[in-house]
Amino acid sequence: MAQRLKGKEGRFRSNLSGKRVNFSARTVISPDPNLSINDVGVPIIAARELTVPVHVNEHNIDMVREIVARGPSPDESDGYKPGANYVQRPDGRRIRLTGNNAAEVSEALDIDYTVERQLVDGDVVLFNRQPSLHRMSIMAHRVRVMPGRTFRFNLCVCAPYNADFDGDEMNLHVLQSDEARAEARILMQVQENILSPRYGGPLIGAIHDHITGAYFLTHGKDGGPHFDRYEAMNILLKLPDISIPEPAGTDADGKPYWTGKQLFSLLLPEDFNITYKASVCQCQGTCKKEDCPWDGYVKIRNGQLLMGTIDEKGIGNSKGKILERIARDYGADRAAKFLNEVTRLALGAIMNHGFSTGIGDEDIPLQAVDQINTNSQECIQEVDDLVSSYREGTLAEMPGRSLRDTLEVKIMTTLAGARDQAGNIAGNYLGMSNPAVIMAKTGARGSMLNLSQMAGCVGQQAVRGERIARGYWDRTLPHFHKGDLGAYARGFCSDSYKSGLNPTEFFFHAMGGREGLVDTAVRTSRSGYMQRRLISALEDLKLTSDGTVRNTVGTIVQFKYGEDGIDPSRAVRGKAIDLNDLLAEVLGDDADMLLNVDQKENTGDNYGAREKDLESLGDEDFDSDGDEESTDYDEDGGDYDGGE
Ligand SMILES: [Mg+2]
Ligand SMILES: [Zn+2]
Repeated sequence: MAQRLKGKEGRFRSNLSGKRVNFSARTVISPDPNLSINDVGVPIIAARELTVPVHVNEHNIDMVREIVARGPSPDESDGYKPGANYVQRPDGRRIRLTGNNAAEVSEALDIDYTVERQLVDGDVVLFNRQPSLHRMSIMAHRVRVMPGRTFRFNLCVCAPYNADFDGDEMNLHVLQSDEARAEARILMQVQENILSPRYGGPLIGAIHDHITGAYFLTHGKDGGPHFDRYEAMNILLKLPDISIPEPAGTDADGKPYWTGKQLFSLLLPEDFNITYKASVCQCQGTCKKEDCPWDGYVKIRNGQLLMGTIDEKGIGNSKGKILERIARDYGADRAAKFLNEVTRLALGAIMNHGFSTGIGDEDIPLQAVDQINTNSQECIQEVDDLVSSYREGTLAEMPGRSLRDTLEVKIMTTLAGARDQAGNIAGNYLGMSNPAVIMAKTGARGSMLNLSQMAGCVGQQAVRGERIARGYWDRTLPHFHKGDLGAYARGFCSDSYKSGLNPTEFFFHAMGGREGLVDTAVRTSRSGYMQRRLISALEDLKLTSDGTVRNTVGTIVQFKYGEDGIDPSRAVRGKAIDLNDLLAEVLGDDADMLLNVDQKENTGDNYGAREKDLESLGDEDFDSDGDEESTDYDEDGGDYDGGE
């Protein structure tokens, strides 16, 4: 008896909490940058199987008759047209439509019949990717029936689903009642979920090529790049609702030109104002604002981008300030429109410019390689000196640590320095003309740490936050002497990914890398269990209209929801008002003096830290394994805290 009930395959978890359902579909997903963020592309083959019940009345009977007459597999020679699979009579009898009985049933159709009609463009469906860890894992989309065999959606929506296209599959559920459709449309549509309830910033935003494209479109003094009529038209072609504006000016030979900043401004609301520091700004200390050599001081007045580069800080997910402000101040419809347009414009710009990256981007001159090698050797020598002074007993103990710990701490600091210096040296030769650097600095993809590990030095490998110490008696590998505490013997990789690791380095790197894999595997199962416990504990709680949180018997659990009654997605990053915005609104440009544009922001990366983030917080310098989402190389140096 217990076996039938218990466990994942038991009655509760398998057949009651979750069960197989009708009107659902599952297939591989793929991207489509031309769809709106609210759309989902559904293959014809799935659309013919999934149905929506239509109650026949005097207003729709002619239309429904036509659909029924088409039968379950209509002719597709002039495009997809919905047919019907079943007809239900008022007495409850269901008639299965076939090619043979369709005409006859259509004729007999009357008021109060119900017809199970196939999907059409615009139907509201729920779209889901497992694991469904937060509410944005299930969102409502509008159907777009299209050829092919995959579900397709806009790339901006990858983040909330945590989806990529390496074979991921997703589920689709067709809503069966008007009430469900209304609820889904109002509460669950993608555009309603742009602002995350976790930290109040945008969760859905431009990614990868969108950001690189926006950079190419807007970067540079004097309005950014200049486009002639042909180029400007080619870029704007992506936006069917926008016509070409008056040219920004004429160049030396009298031809009209349009600027990138001008084209970007077409997408902004007319009264939009904002000032912030872009991700590309590398100013040491405070940004030089108007004179920022990186064009990183973004100033938008009355919907015109006056200066600054649009990058991750403007339109990216979790950091996009422009996106966040539009979503908060102008509503979900406007934000969805902006996002749809800005991503297409950016793609237009990147296609006009051309962009590619490859292994050659990590090439640095021989002299830099020599410099890095010399530097590494110096650091390794320093480590050897530390080890000798430890052996001779001249090493001073750090407060609260043993002599051995002191040695390890000092060695780790030295070797972390070696990697950072290698990164800096490589960075000096990798300028903003390098595609990989453009991606790293604009926030499109990758980090300077990734680049410096490829071009410069991979750095110390670690297991459980410490230098590698396991293996054989008194040594890690038979390649080293017993008792060797030097850099190489304990997992330091002075080579780069590009130059290739030597065998011992490779072995240590595999050790460090495996720890990451094991951690992920262990963590997912553990957090899955925790999630289940949490859901069981909270599943009967609801927020009542008097603002209290109660359980099913009416016992008050919280007098105010969340103890403060605040919905983070409607607050300004945890605060009730945005003082900077308010000042800017009242004082106009005078407020720029007061604005603290350099302040470090709460974004999804640090405010509601995920486990992934926490992992890299503990031993940031030592996290040698370049996890693709790990912290930015110059997180501390680059994002100057403007004195606050
Ligand atoms: Mg995947
Ligand atoms: Zn600057």
